[in-house]
Amino acid sequence: MPLSLRELVFDNRLVREMPADNESENFRRQVYAAVYSRVTPTPVKNPHLIAAVSEVADLLQLSHAAFADPQFTQVFGGNELLSGMEPHACVYGGHQFGNWAGQLGDGRAINLGEVKNSRGEHWTLQLKGAGPTPYSRTADGLAVLRSSVREFLCSEAMFHLGVPTTRALSLVGTGELVRRDMFYDGNPQMEPGAVVCRVAPTFTRFGNFEIFSARNDIALLKQFTDFTLRTDFSALFPAEQHEFTKADYLRWFNEICIRTAQLMAHWMRVGFVHGVMNTDNMSVLGLTIDYGPYGWLEGYDQDWTPNTTDAQGRRYRYGSQPRVALWNLAQLANAIYPLIDEVEPLQAALENYRAEYEHCAQRDVAAKLGLSQFDPMQDQALNKQLLACFQLVETDMTIFYRALAQLNADDISHYANSQCVDIVRDSFYSVVDARAETQWADWLRLYAARLQQDYVLSGNTHTQKCERMNAVNPKYVLRNYLAQQAIDKATQGDFSEVEKLLQILRNPYAEQPDYQHYFAKRPEWARHKAGCSMLSCSS
Ligand code: AMP
Ligand code: MG
Repeated sequence: MPLSLRELVFDNRLVREMPADNESENFRRQVYAAVYSRVTPTPVKNPHLIAAVSEVADLLQLSHAAFADPQFTQVFGGNELLSGMEPHACVYGGHQFGNWAGQLGDGRAINLGEVKNSRGEHWTLQLKGAGPTPYSRTADGLAVLRSSVREFLCSEAMFHLGVPTTRALSLVGTGELVRRDMFYDGNPQMEPGAVVCRVAPTFTRFGNFEIFSARNDIALLKQFTDFTLRTDFSALFPAEQHEFTKADYLRWFNEICIRTAQLMAHWMRVGFVHGVMNTDNMSVLGLTIDYGPYGWLEGYDQDWTPNTTDAQGRRYRYGSQPRVALWNLAQLANAIYPLIDEVEPLQAALENYRAEYEHCAQRDVAAKLGLSQFDPMQDQALNKQLLACFQLVETDMTIFYRALAQLNADDISHYANSQCVDIVRDSFYSVVDARAETQWADWLRLYAARLQQDYVLSGNTHTQKCERMNAVNPKYVLRNYLAQQAIDKATQGDFSEVEKLLQILRNPYAEQPDYQHYFAKRPEWARHKAGCSMLSCSS
């Protein structure tokens, strides 16, 4: 039986077992010798429910009828607490753009507590944008509607794409205005405020370990790490294990390396660019976390970054993500080194990251091309030549792979160049010249020959190949301009486009004939429009 709001059971392990900050006043400060600070959400004037996600309610075993309960909006807008909730913000640090930034922490996130469902799963509920905490530094602890819509939609879209991610239960407008300088040009505007309730088994980041280590508080580092192993990684260890050895910590770190490698392969497969891969935005569970100035590749471009703050160095560009994740893992390795005292096994784990990423990336290249297996002898070169073709003419990644699935290897041999290229022409943003057309046709023929060879080896048919490709190459992604259109309407008080996108993105791999127009290249007007091409961190 699904539960009402008041029937949710909270089992707040972190609050119960970890040391709390002694200070109970909510003011900005450095917090030492504690994992979290108790803090209550700041009440808002006029909370109104914009959207809620039934699949996330299902995780909590919360009845969908609860969405219509006025208390739902009050609780997830930050005005009320349910019995059993123990709101708190966690301390963490992080490396931002390659530099140690010291204490950061949940500056605008407040954990409400851990729901324990009848399957014994724990799900932490976290409000983002519910007011200041001791970790808010110079900022206000609030979030604007545009960034909240982006987080809400993208986290659900990622889930349905099969990409590990935090989830979103609800999006609540606060009825209050928030001051933001979106372009950092000295022209702040008042924008509507909103709160997203995020849901994950835990929101622990690499930075949660880094902060204790940086402060040389090794006892707390060990205490928090042991807690993490016991709670969030219980599947790796015997039930009720409380004492951990070096070997256990290494096993755990290896697991993080493997999960992070898998996450990076997913991002690269779907064309997601996080935009701010600081170590405080890296989940210890290998989830996509903290949706800020992220973006989706439209034209395939290894160098693309959606984040204006990153435009200079392009540290977090699409093609760099797997390397940056490794760098971030190395920072985590440094942080937990005092628990292990040996460099080599940590380095070996980082090597495992490389190997796992390579394995996943190759598997994905094969799957995206509809091949039953990655044959390094041929497919390394095949993929390299494809990437070279992407340089010839701006090519929409999503449309390209869906169009490519239509290629019939038997037909193409007697096609002229232009006929070959017609198969994928819809994915080009401009006209291809004769030279580019020849190069594309050469690649398509090479690919067709490779497919034919694969059919013989694997026994696959054309139809099976299409299905295989369409299961890994999404048809619908949250294109930057689509999110922006939903935001523009939402700002006018019309939330229908948020609902519609949420619905379409529930089935990203399926053909949805009614929504064919959402499977379209970015329109020209969106190329340089704020929110559609580049995004600032202001949110
Ligand atoms: P981010 O780059 O968004 O991951 O944020 C880095 C740090 O800044 C984290 O500690 C956030 O909690 C904090 N932060 C970002 N925006 C705000 C805000 N509006 N109010 C308070 N803290 C914030
Ligand atoms: Mg963050």
